[in-house]
Amino acid sequence: MDFDLFVIGGGSAGVRCARIAAGHGARVGIAEERHWGGTCVNIGCVPKKLLVQAGEYGGWADDAAGFGWTIHKGPHDWGKLIAAKDREITRLEGVYRKLLTGAGATIFDGRAVFVDPHTLEVAGRRITAERIAIATGGHAERPNIPGAELGIISDDAFYLKTMPRRVAMVGSGYIAVEFAGIFRALGAEVHLIYRQPLPLRGFDQDVREALVEALAAQGIILHPGCLPHKVEADGERRILTFGDNEMIDADLVFFATGRKANVKGLGLDKAGVELNAKDAVRVDEHLRTTQPHIYAMGDVTDRVNLTPVATAEGHALADTLFGNAPRTIPLWNVPSAVFTTPPIGTVGLSEDQASAMGAVDIYTARFTPMRHNLSGRNRRSLMKLVVDKETQRVVGAHMLGEDAAEIIQGIAIAVVMGATKADFDRTIGIHPTAAEEFVTLRTRTRTTDLAKDAD
Ligand code: NDP
Repeated sequence: MDFDLFVIGGGSAGVRCARIAAGHGARVGIAEERHWGGTCVNIGCVPKKLLVQAGEYGGWADDAAGFGWTIHKGPHDWGKLIAAKDREITRLEGVYRKLLTGAGATIFDGRAVFVDPHTLEVAGRRITAERIAIATGGHAERPNIPGAELGIISDDAFYLKTMPRRVAMVGSGYIAVEFAGIFRALGAEVHLIYRQPLPLRGFDQDVREALVEALAAQGIILHPGCLPHKVEADGERRILTFGDNEMIDADLVFFATGRKANVKGLGLDKAGVELNAKDAVRVDEHLRTTQPHIYAMGDVTDRVNLTPVATAEGHALADTLFGNAPRTIPLWNVPSAVFTTPPIGTVGLSEDQASAMGAVDIYTARFTPMRHNLSGRNRRSLMKLVVDKETQRVVGAHMLGEDAAEIIQGIAIAVVMGATKADFDRTIGIHPTAAEEFVTLRTRTRTTDLAKDAD
């Protein structure tokens, strides 16, 4: 065999796995057909966060007046922002390549396709490997409606030549609400069109309600309970018909309607690797596919599609196979953030999820952050703890408000460790902060027991 391990895909999962396995002394090859670092680094988390930060500066410039500053805010230069973002992404892509070669992995710029369970064709070359890991990620999907190809997907949003003045955003998952916030903060009129009554299905109900308030306060025009019907072109303009035959004439129709695993054209049938009901690669908790020496990790398995989960899986697989330290990555209590304006941070169970298993005590705080008493901005934060009534363990912590992602990362350690409400209560707050609310929530808001209600 040419390699002990061959990794298909140089994204978060693949790069980590290849790098760590090579560090353990394995002979490792890795192929990437598009860009090293994958979705997160090139057309996902990293450039998205830079665009979010660009929007924040505009808000801060407005808010500064309440603190005595006179700021003349000029127009925003989209081209300059995208050029700066591109330079940073090019730098990071180089870092990823270097990490791999520095660790001793052999890198291939090209697509890898299975010929048989141990053989791959990579850029016109046959390569054999003892073990193979599939880490090809996922891709955005447009809905099946007429003219869908006239709308963009998130990949395209990072390379727009000009900043759109009017945007019709379809969907209300992570990507839709984040990009709605970005374009709005940079000055566009933004319409959010979604089929649920509230955005972010699956998140805690209080968070979803608070998000609706925040999106509206930001000036985003909400169209709940609406399906998209068709997109038509009028020169450069795009006309979206949706809901009850409503129409928006926009510069941009943006579909953020979900992602699918990248499994097509890999020759998985020749490798004996089966898919699951979601058309993603089926794996067990050890990341094994239906072919014992072939593994899959990250978004191609379509389980918890988050970069830190993918890197953790890649690392665990490398340690398991070559580091004499077998382990699995539990997929519960995974904290995550949504970089809306303001952001959302969450870890553990929502009130509905937890109370479906038994009674929970709910503690909430809703307040205007100190800063906005002076800035005059209409923005309120939400903090919420979900506590198992019987054990008093904190099983969920949720926040919408400034720095939510930073705050919840710390809270997540306590939740993962199994901290109780009493542990939170005996922790002294840091004053004056928003985060201190999490340790000063003394009055129970309510007790919920969906399990009992269902009886
Ligand atoms: P999601 O699956 O989160 O959301 C898809 C949205 O599109 C939902 O609102 C869904 O509605 C709607 N939708 C799906 N199909 C249709 C349709 N045919 N017509 C109308 N609406 C439709 O996908 P995203 O694309 O937002 O994000 C993909 C993944 O990427 C996420 O699951 C997340 O794991 C990851 N991600 C994480 C981020 C972060 O951590 N900050 C940022 C961005 C992405 P409904 O709710 O009714 O199904």
